[in-house]
Amino acid sequence: EETAARRDHYYSASQKKFIPFRDPMVFRRGQMQYLWDEKGRKYTDLLGMNVCISVGHSHPAVVKAAMEQAQELTHCTTMFYHPVPAHFAEELAATMPKGPKGDIEWVVHFTNSGSEAIDLAMAMARGFTGNLDLLALRTAYHGPTSAAQSVTGIAGWRHPGMPGNVAFVAEPNQYRGIFGQNAGAAPYLEEIERVIQTATTGRVAGILVESVQGYGGIIEMPPGYMSGAAERIRAAGGLYIADEVQSGFGRTGDHMWGFEADDVIPDIVVMAKGISNGFPLGAVVARKEIAAPMAAKFMFHTYGANPTSCAAGRAVLQIIREDKVQENARVVGAELLGRLQDLKQRHAAIGDVRGRGLMLAIEMVKDQRTKEPDPATTAAVFEACRDSGLILSKSGPFQSCLRMVPPMCLSLADVEQVAQGLDQAFTQAAR
Ligand code: PMP
Repeated sequence: EETAARRDHYYSASQKKFIPFRDPMVFRRGQMQYLWDEKGRKYTDLLGMNVCISVGHSHPAVVKAAMEQAQELTHCTTMFYHPVPAHFAEELAATMPKGPKGDIEWVVHFTNSGSEAIDLAMAMARGFTGNLDLLALRTAYHGPTSAAQSVTGIAGWRHPGMPGNVAFVAEPNQYRGIFGQNAGAAPYLEEIERVIQTATTGRVAGILVESVQGYGGIIEMPPGYMSGAAERIRAAGGLYIADEVQSGFGRTGDHMWGFEADDVIPDIVVMAKGISNGFPLGAVVARKEIAAPMAAKFMFHTYGANPTSCAAGRAVLQIIREDKVQENARVVGAELLGRLQDLKQRHAAIGDVRGRGLMLAIEMVKDQRTKEPDPATTAAVFEACRDSGLILSKSGPFQSCLRMVPPMCLSLADVEQVAQGLDQAFTQAAR
């Protein structure tokens, strides 16, 4: 209560508003996929503290790497050389596809956050192509900075006065998209062409695509969408920008990067959150020639390439490589998805379950036929889940989706407990 009172008094309304639960929760401890509140009650974190916790809360190897670096030299501005970010850049570049001829070279620009990386990617695309217009998806979320808001489609997530030169295309939502259920990629690709012709100068700088939309309610790109979008955008002079802030680092289970689900090699890849398991860091990884023109103008991120965050990032990559994290996301995610499909059979409020790996969602509807979104039941289930010891997040344009993006160490035993907790929560919410 004291913490809540202090926070409520001193936080700005803009920071205070985003408190999703009925009453305040104070977390004091985390270990792998679990959290403990100030009363010592244990929770399973299906939110992954907003997808930042990729390999586990306070993962000992990440903490050790960051602590050792912080003790030696906490920060080193990018004016100087430091081995840790240099190694990390090399390791991140090595995760990128090299192309059919094996000759694609990737370079890294470290930022402090995902939205800074989005800003930078937008500037890079505009600088390289000489075009201003960008395309983005209607239910995309790309972050809170002005530039990132300008490519964030949902009006309620955008403040007045954001910069322009952005045209929105429909998200290829296979459940409730504008072209109907399971419409595939084709009509959405045609729409991209139409929007380029009608809402831009005809020459574009690029398109931003979350390989799996996060806040949009876990919207997967249907097969052929990412490659088709890249083809069409390149035909109009633009670049394909993959936002991997939520879908990267093995979370989708099958691949390190979400875009690898399709036959596409992006021009620019944006990453953050899971990159460093909770330490502040973002990065743009771009083809070398695309990043080159940026050198003509000043672009300096004070904390970018911070060695403490980069040391954490190196540890994350090592854990992903050595501890079969991606494989765990695939196996445990498939099991959880199966359990969500069972729940859908039993609870009329569930309209759709979807996702891949450990990036899953349940969408709630008032009526399965009309698909009218049901934010009230979503909120009730969300609260009831908390009573069952599960922390989830509400998402989607109607706040009618429960999003599950846990640390990728979630186990099969946790799935059992999650499925039971959700079942109870749905039963309780239906009363
Ligand atoms: N892109 C996506 C897909 C995101 O989910 C977010 C953050 N939720 C961002 C970009 C922005 O990242 P940050 O909050 O670190 O600025």
